[in-house]
Amino acid sequence: MTKMFAKPTTRSSLNERPARPPKAKQSRATARDKYSFKEACRHLVGGVNSPVRAFKAVGGEPFFVSRARGSKIFDSRGKAYLDYVMSWGPHILGHGHPAVIRALKKAVECGTSFGAPTWQEVELACLVKEAFPSIDKVRFVSSGTEAVMSAVRVARGFTGRKKIVKFNGCYHGHSDALLVKAGSGSATFGIPDSKGVPEELAGLTVSLPYNQTEPVEKLFRQEANQIACLLVEPVAGNMGLVPPAEGFLKTLREICTRYRVALIFDEVISGFRAAFGGAQELFGVKPDLTCLGKILGGGLPLGAFGGREEIMNRLSPEGDVYQAGTLSGNPLATACGIAMLTKLRSGKIYKDLKKKTSSLVEPLRNFARQKKYPIQINVSGSLFTVFFTPEPVCDYQSAKSSDTARYAKFFHFLLKNGIFFPPSQFECCFVSAAHNPADIRKTLDIARKALQEIF
Ligand SMILES: *Cc1c(COP(=O)(O)O)cnc(C)c1O
Repeated sequence: MTKMFAKPTTRSSLNERPARPPKAKQSRATARDKYSFKEACRHLVGGVNSPVRAFKAVGGEPFFVSRARGSKIFDSRGKAYLDYVMSWGPHILGHGHPAVIRALKKAVECGTSFGAPTWQEVELACLVKEAFPSIDKVRFVSSGTEAVMSAVRVARGFTGRKKIVKFNGCYHGHSDALLVKAGSGSATFGIPDSKGVPEELAGLTVSLPYNQTEPVEKLFRQEANQIACLLVEPVAGNMGLVPPAEGFLKTLREICTRYRVALIFDEVISGFRAAFGGAQELFGVKPDLTCLGKILGGGLPLGAFGGREEIMNRLSPEGDVYQAGTLSGNPLATACGIAMLTKLRSGKIYKDLKKKTSSLVEPLRNFARQKKYPIQINVSGSLFTVFFTPEPVCDYQSAKSSDTARYAKFFHFLLKNGIFFPPSQFECCFVSAAHNPADIRKTLDIARKALQEIF
């Protein structure tokens, strides 16, 4: 007979003292993978729980992670990699920052979820508002996807209009309405739209070229009275890194004000990254609504959206736009968030991060120029992407001109030498406060060798 159920939990085991974590130390020689990737694929779709992790865009099999500390991530056999993925952004302080771990340990002792409000949520909301003066009121959710999905809903509710406008190559999570010309995973797989998204729904989403304002102006002139919101990644990070062109964001603000369309900044990557107050602080442009995630939760599932009071007050329980979440404002996630933002709020680390990133990117760029390798390195603060194309990359179309096969070779050379870059051309590299000068020197050295190897 097959065993259908686990042994019933006894009363005494419910009262057990918490278990010690297993010893992580294993000698490299004896460490073994618990499963093969093939086995993983029999149980999890593609062996993973988020598509880019499967390495499909670069080929080969992904490594499975055992732990991470500072700038390093360790696979299940104990091999260390210098990490430039950093969980796709949250770990701006490095993996396992002591202040974050301390906060989490303290929080977990008090309970993991309550379904009733805590003062922590209020405290974190205050920190978010301190960072983002455009935000009067906040709602916490559990992911960036949820944040954007809900911000769009409240914008539609507020304006009474149906259509939404976004930009090609900007990714706003995987909700139905936003899987139209999205970057990230769908750029990686060359799927313009996902199956399972009804055309009628996608038909309400208009996608325009990034970094151009004339198409927006033209569209608004014709049908602004049907458009609820304009959604933009103010620093685009999901077609590889593409910074906004001079004046792009300011002009969008101006057009949206003129046509009374809600301007939504998706700062899920750029929030607390471009500056403490995100891209809106860096570029001096105030959106009506802002979406946050990634750094906000310090590695725990946490997102938020917020903005002008008259819009946010349309949300339930105050207003008529429904939005809810069993785990929203989760005490572990908010504790992590408070620890993160408390570390970041002085704004000191941003200058260092920028300098450090330049110290990697500039010499690499010069090296490529000298050798006449056709690459572009886009950079903004602590974010960068190496594109394999001779033309400047300023939008989705130019990003897609990159030679992805060459990127794959670059990626694998780095990986073999202990450096983990994103397993796709259409993502950005994240530099953290934990990357030290020796890490940067090593990365530069190996990246130079990689370029020599593949050209
Ligand atoms: C990551 C990301 C999202 C989605 O966040 P999830 O937490 O993965 O749902 C949305 N927008 C942008 C700009 C992102 O980078």
